[in-house]
Amino acid sequence: THFGFRTVPSENKENLVRGVFDSVASSYDLMNDAMSMGVHRLWKDDFVKLLRPGSKGPIRCIDVAGGTGDIALRMLDSAREKYADRETSVDVVDINGEMLKEGYKRFKKTMYHNTPQISFQEANAQELPEDRFPSNSYDLYTIAFGIRNVTSIPDVLKEAHRVLKPGGTFACLEFNKVTNPVLAQMYDQYSFSVIPLLGTILAGDRDSYQYLVESIRRFPSQRDFAQMISDAGFATGGFFEGDGGAWRDLWGGIACIHMGVKV
Ligand code: SAM
Repeated sequence: THFGFRTVPSENKENLVRGVFDSVASSYDLMNDAMSMGVHRLWKDDFVKLLRPGSKGPIRCIDVAGGTGDIALRMLDSAREKYADRETSVDVVDINGEMLKEGYKRFKKTMYHNTPQISFQEANAQELPEDRFPSNSYDLYTIAFGIRNVTSIPDVLKEAHRVLKPGGTFACLEFNKVTNPVLAQMYDQYSFSVIPLLGTILAGDRDSYQYLVESIRRFPSQRDFAQMISDAGFATGGFFEGDGGAWRDLWGGIACIHMGVKV
């Protein structure tokens, strides 16, 4: 298959994305490490450290586009290790059953398996079924390296707003725009040559990784994305220093954390 990404009509994007992640699910964790040279782990650690799950007592979390459960595992470990919290829970939601299956397998080896602390559920972030995901039911909504893959970012944000309790927190970790021109050029070089090559060598699938690289390029800037979060009904100010406090760049903007509170 060839993913001529720019020519794919948006109504087919969900199927396309499902296909991409189907073909990479089993090698996904390995590829993640190779692609980011392990750095995605540090970013995910930073993300969870910032959110401090369990610091104010047990909370209900939903991790959307949660894939193989990287964020969920960190959240539960952090709550338990730092706050002796064994009641915080994470519902991992993903559109792709294969990714969830990998996550389920992984959690089988942990103490959270078969407890109310974790669940894996197949659903589309743009329309979370109301029977399984009622309005005003979560304290924390996380989405890591997932929102750039969706057809409609506003629809995802609208659903995030719906399922969160008033006062609940939205937090997004995503690749973003590198502002330093020298770093930006190095990063471009890396992403357009090295990553698809790694995709070929490690996963036998160049096109899927090419698609991932292009999806990063097309994602809105930090400021535009913050505006979208605010438009969805979140208060975005004052979380971080500078720039209105809606986001924090990691590694010069290669990745970025955005936050909002449901008002
Ligand atoms: N959050 C995980 C992590 O950080 O390791 C997984 C990130 S992975 C790059 C992106 C995930 O988004 C994939 O598992 C994919 O299936 C999922 N995804 C893409 N579109 C989605 C949608 N519309 N609804 C829910 N999940 C979606």
